[in-house]
Amino acid sequence: MKLRIVIIGGGAAGAWMLLRLLQQGHEGIDIVEPRASLGRGLAYSARFDKHLLNVTTPKMDTFAEADDPLFEPWLAERAEHDYAPRRLYGDFLTEAVSKAVAGKDVRHFQTMASTIRSTDDGLAITLTDGTTLTASHAVLALGNLPPKFLAAGISDPRIVEHPWSLTPGIAQERDRVVIAGTGLTALDAVVLIADANPKARFTLAAAHPLTPPCDRTVTPWADAEHIIGHSPAAIWGMVKRELRQHDWYEVVDGLRGHVETIWTRWTHEQRRSFMRHGARLWLHHRHRSPPPTWHRIEELRTAGRLSLRAGRIHRLTPHTDRIDVDLTAGTLAADLVVNTTGPSLSLRSHALLSVLLDAGLVTECPLGLGIAIDDDGRCRTRDGHPSRIFALGTLTRGQFFETVAVPHIRKHAGDIATAIAG
Ligand SMILES: Cc1cc2nc3c(=O)[nH]c(=O)nc-3n(C[C@H](O)[C@H](O)[C@H](O)COP(=O)(O)OP(=O)(O)OC[C@H]3O[C@@H](n4cnc5c(N)ncnc54)[C@H](O)[C@@H]3O)c2cc1C
Repeated sequence: MKLRIVIIGGGAAGAWMLLRLLQQGHEGIDIVEPRASLGRGLAYSARFDKHLLNVTTPKMDTFAEADDPLFEPWLAERAEHDYAPRRLYGDFLTEAVSKAVAGKDVRHFQTMASTIRSTDDGLAITLTDGTTLTASHAVLALGNLPPKFLAAGISDPRIVEHPWSLTPGIAQERDRVVIAGTGLTALDAVVLIADANPKARFTLAAAHPLTPPCDRTVTPWADAEHIIGHSPAAIWGMVKRELRQHDWYEVVDGLRGHVETIWTRWTHEQRRSFMRHGARLWLHHRHRSPPPTWHRIEELRTAGRLSLRAGRIHRLTPHTDRIDVDLTAGTLAADLVVNTTGPSLSLRSHALLSVLLDAGLVTECPLGLGIAIDDDGRCRTRDGHPSRIFALGTLTRGQFFETVAVPHIRKHAGDIATAIAG
């Protein structure tokens, strides 16, 4: 009997993996995802329509292949424009998956995968409802690791550790809002709370309190590919020279298309050096805010309702009338605290990954950027055997660096489908 392929996780990465496998003629695919619809995951389950895509519409179709469903024409039919609500990308992908699986041997198990073990001819994947699936190959499309909590062990409705669980109801009557973090998730939290509570005032705290710049479309620096093959220090010198002639948006957008090639040609030490000295600066300029979000934040800042504060939050103490927020310097009183500090970096924070680490079926990337994989997305086992488990998406940053956005996910899903066929 031909063994099946099991995809674990049915967010955008799991959905694109499924589409790519079907396009390449694979059938007999199981996908394990607790959410009812496939393709939404964390980012595209957004229910609030001011939570926007952070790129222009055509960029969501970058690296599309000939048979791919395309977001731009789909959106144009609905008379929507750039920086559309993220929910719409979820609608688009869910629809694309429903069409692609019609009449095909594809099963969706609406639960979680809890363990995977090797068998003589493949893998056995156990689900939390007790079902065991057998497979020739599995693909981990698990998304971000869970957030690292600000106040582990304290349960208080005024402390929101999972920023995507924020609802307008939580923000009512809670005027003094402290947000840990100043990135895109922090801005999304502000926009939601400010809409729900017009009296809310915000303090955004982080060690380096910089909000993402506003996105805009420019002509990318055309000669960026010349920097491929150079060391991080040499590239920094070349980039500084270019910045004398070009706007930084042009330089960064020129570089973006080459990041994976630059990264994969660096040695391990060069990657480590970049992570230590250049990554923060790069990521700040790379992750842009959709203009409507950016303008809303500026409006709140100008009205004196939003300020930035340098310092990490190291303790939260709930009282009846407030929460004391202890920062590196000083204490703030808050009615609502939201954690937007991002996902944990420890693979152990994910139950399934913890099981796989113990079994030696996956190993950690030496840079601490997720799972160690090969160029085709295949996980490295502890004893160096080729694995039947692949990984896709944010957990593969150590190998490709650019793995989070839809275009990269779609490209890597194609490479995995080809490797499985081979
Ligand atoms: C808020 C936000 C906004 C973004 N905006 C953009 C954008 O505008 N453009 C862009 O290109 N990219 C954007 N991104 C990047 C984004 O990461 C990708 O576009 C994409 O959503 C990642 O999908 P994913 O499937 O890897 O992860 P997720 O969406 O997190 O999906 C992972 C899925 O795995 C499931 N899962 C986890 N563990 C198990 C298990 N043990 N068993 C079964 N299922 C499991 C979860 O239920 C989840 O649904 C955004 C990301 C975020 C967080």
